[in-house]
Amino acid sequence: MDISRFLQSWYLDNRRLLPWRETSDAYCIWLSEIILQQTRVAQGYDYYMRFVATYPTVQQLAAAPLDDVLKLWQGLGYYSRARLLHRAAQMVASGSGTFPSRYEELMKLPGVGPYTAAAIASFASGQAVAVVDGNVYRVLARLFDIDLPIDSTAGRKHFQQLADELLDPDHAGLHNQAMMELGALVCTPTSPRCTECPVADACAALAHHTIGLRPRKVGRVKVRQRRLHYYIFKYGDDIWVHQRAANDIWLDLWEYYLHEEGDDTPIPPEALGVEPAFTYGHRLTHQQLLCSFYIVPLTQPITTLPSDYVRMSWRKWQEKAVAKPIFEANRRFSALFSTK
Ligand code: SF4
Repeated sequence: MDISRFLQSWYLDNRRLLPWRETSDAYCIWLSEIILQQTRVAQGYDYYMRFVATYPTVQQLAAAPLDDVLKLWQGLGYYSRARLLHRAAQMVASGSGTFPSRYEELMKLPGVGPYTAAAIASFASGQAVAVVDGNVYRVLARLFDIDLPIDSTAGRKHFQQLADELLDPDHAGLHNQAMMELGALVCTPTSPRCTECPVADACAALAHHTIGLRPRKVGRVKVRQRRLHYYIFKYGDDIWVHQRAANDIWLDLWEYYLHEEGDDTPIPPEALGVEPAFTYGHRLTHQQLLCSFYIVPLTQPITTLPSDYVRMSWRKWQEKAVAKPIFEANRRFSALFSTK
């Protein structure tokens, strides 16, 4: 069976129509690929449209303040992607000015790894490089009933070789899209739709009844539990906030005064004895956060906070890029403040 030919023909009849698939502009494809890392298409779609509309060229993205880019990114999570996106745009703009579409050039950009480089190169210029993302791992592991763990060095090497061998070099973009789309729509993690699969006749895991065991993984991610307490010092319609700078999650995003359990940041005397008004749980890849928010009304401006905390009106605060728990707290407490 010519697996690639069957996949491509299935893809042409069944693919989802998405704006980044209707272009060969490497810049737009790159935007979509960075946005869609760790993000579902349904969620990423609006962000892609907003980025393309706000920054139609790499020069415009490069010239934008990082704060604006982070603000547009707000809600997507994994904010390091936005920072690297901005840095890569600046590299391109200060170099040739043309967004690269060859694998070797793309790999020099921050935030672009082998998968993203292969995707952009094959979609934008038809370069014969095979993509291997989570969907492709799953399809290959099942199609060839491979027991090697996908998160081992030997496994990654083997899967890349297999993907390279399977690639149709004359239609690399189409082939790669088809592999990924099969994984997204048919060969799904749970309950794959094998009766609709164009390559079911060649599927070894289907024949061996091992679909549920493929792909195999060895490692388990250790999750760190963190307890964060955020104090909202309220003086009229003003609050005190700062921009995160430490080498930690949410770099460059803004937040209220933070006391984290286990570190030595003190709870200011004004906040002692105040009960939490709202608690919010949030999961990151390697961390489980439980964030409590406290409202601390003040009769005079607070002067005891570290110097990086700045006084800000609630209206101005709404323009700042914040992480999801802070965004939820803002929504929750907006009735307490006037935005005039
Ligand atoms: S037959 Fe089923 S398990 Fe095999 S590749 Fe197709 S969808 Fe995946």
